Amino acid sequence: MIKIKNPAKPPKTLIEKGAAENKENCAAYDYSPEDYRSGRKSFKFKNKIYGSKTVKKALLRAQYEKCCYCESKFRATSPGDVEHYRPKGAVKQTDGQRVEHPGYYWLAYDWNNLLVSCADCNRSYKKDLFPLKNRDARAHSHHDNIDDERPLFVNPAIDDPRRHIRFRGATPYHLTKVGRETIKGMGLRRDALEEKRIERLQGLKTIRDLVEGAKDPSDSKVKAARELLAASTRPNAEYSSMVQDFLGT
Ligand SMILES: [Zn+2]
Repeated sequence: MIKIKNPAKPPKTLIEKGAAENKENCAAYDYSPEDYRSGRKSFKFKNKIYGSKTVKKALLRAQYEKCCYCESKFRATSPGDVEHYRPKGAVKQTDGQRVEHPGYYWLAYDWNNLLVSCADCNRSYKKDLFPLKNRDARAHSHHDNIDDERPLFVNPAIDDPRRHIRFRGATPYHLTKVGRETIKGMGLRRDALEEKRIERLQGLKTIRDLVEGAKDPSDSKVKAARELLAASTRPNAEYSSMVQDFLGT
């Protein structure tokens, strides 16, 4: 996982349609909060707004066309999900716990709560999970302050993920509790992902050995190989965080 920077200005559709929709949802909550807290009523969120082409395009560009959590380039086979860092429809502190309603409904169209992830990180792992260090401070409605919360998931648009998660070979390990919960919550050690990262490392090891064993470092092929290694550590490269640790850059 790497640090990303979303453009400061939200896409127009969030400012116009999203804000209007949010206003309605907040009014509906205020009219019957108990119905929403108990789960008797739930919000119908409009994917057409938060997941619109313009929103997704802006997020993907900021994320170097990769999943915000696992750094996979998924777009050849899957469109990916506009993902809510704070879950919009329901929330869980831990996997074993029952879901709490109504979730962070007031952040459904909030630019600062949106990321793009691959379907696996979002739907198979993270889902409604959003653990807090201080669970009693959880915001339950738009009247509460999310700034009081101390999330146990890395937000790559705010935090520097590398302060929390690093790699040993193809396997991520945690430096902090936030890193540990993120690896677990997003399934960053899942087999299919580990296999892809191993494959990536194997190719890079061959290139590195070639560069290190070269008799003439100024040879154009060796230079090209060196450039290839450098390119694989840049943010637009798949699994660049792992590669940075592998190459010690
Ligand atoms: Zn992912």
